[in-house]
Amino acid sequence: MKGIITKGIGGFYYVETKEGMYECKARGLFRKQKLTPLAGDTCNISAMPDMTGYIEEIFERKNAFVRPPIANVDQMIIVCAAAAPQPLPILIDKLSVVALKEGVEPTVVINKIDLKTDNTDEIAKSYRKAGFKVYTVSAIKGEGIDLIKNDMAGKISVFAGCSGVGKSSILNCLLPDLNQKTGDVSEKIKRGKHTTREVSLIKLPEGGYIADTPGFSELEIAEITDVEKEQLFEYFPEIEKYSGECNFRDCRHINEPGCNVKKAVEEGNISLSRYESYKEIFSQLGEINKWEKKLK
Ligand code: GDP
Ligand code: ZN
Repeated sequence: MKGIITKGIGGFYYVETKEGMYECKARGLFRKQKLTPLAGDTCNISAMPDMTGYIEEIFERKNAFVRPPIANVDQMIIVCAAAAPQPLPILIDKLSVVALKEGVEPTVVINKIDLKTDNTDEIAKSYRKAGFKVYTVSAIKGEGIDLIKNDMAGKISVFAGCSGVGKSSILNCLLPDLNQKTGDVSEKIKRGKHTTREVSLIKLPEGGYIADTPGFSELEIAEITDVEKEQLFEYFPEIEKYSGECNFRDCRHINEPGCNVKKAVEEGNISLSRYESYKEIFSQLGEINKWEKKLK
């Protein structure tokens, strides 16, 4: 029977199937293959009448993350706040690079729009220019939450973003029926990656799943070191869009003359903030490469 792993804990995997939730063990062959079943994996199980079973086969993954340990993520919901705390574009930009690198769709949610701010529109615009979906919401007022909800239907989503931006509050809005459980979940979201090792996928009323653990909240650049510096622009969709017409074929879009990307920034087709992040991440990747070379 086919199912999806929603949680793994102490060697047991909870697999949701059309017949209900099965408590499964993994066959030994996975250990031999060094394949650890992850939440988000789709699998075939042999099912017993007492709702236990064995995972027999794990289907090929679309992607897999170590922290949090989860596979087949469709969407990363990057949450920031309009204010309190101030949005950190560089963090949003790093997270979206990580997402795009793994074939995950980044979606930006600007929460706390009930607070007075002046740059919310500008931030929203800069990510819309990048081609990302942007939702402006207020978890406290329940505004805009339905849009996120519709967007999550049928997908596996993870939340990401700094602490204090309102991830748990949004989750509480999304899952009002799970009051009791959501309490635990909020706690877990709060504790973040430091104490939470396992991930549970929570089924959404509209279909699809949300991971109960925020991913990548205190992301360090080290996590994107496997992005080649020269390839970085590919993970900035709007930069990639303008990169084909630079004077130099190997233009890195930093200081080269005749750079069409710089022109697009000057003409306002690429947001300055995004371009600044590109340059910042580019130079950080450079430092890491140098540092790695020293070690070798
Ligand atoms: P998390 O760390 O990302 O999970 O953030 P929380 O959900 O714990 O929220 C952090 C703080 O922001 C709490 O005090 C919330 O009450 C507050 N908060 C969350 N959403 C909103 C909102 O839409 N508007 C305002 N004004 N405050 C909010
Ligand atoms: Zn260029």
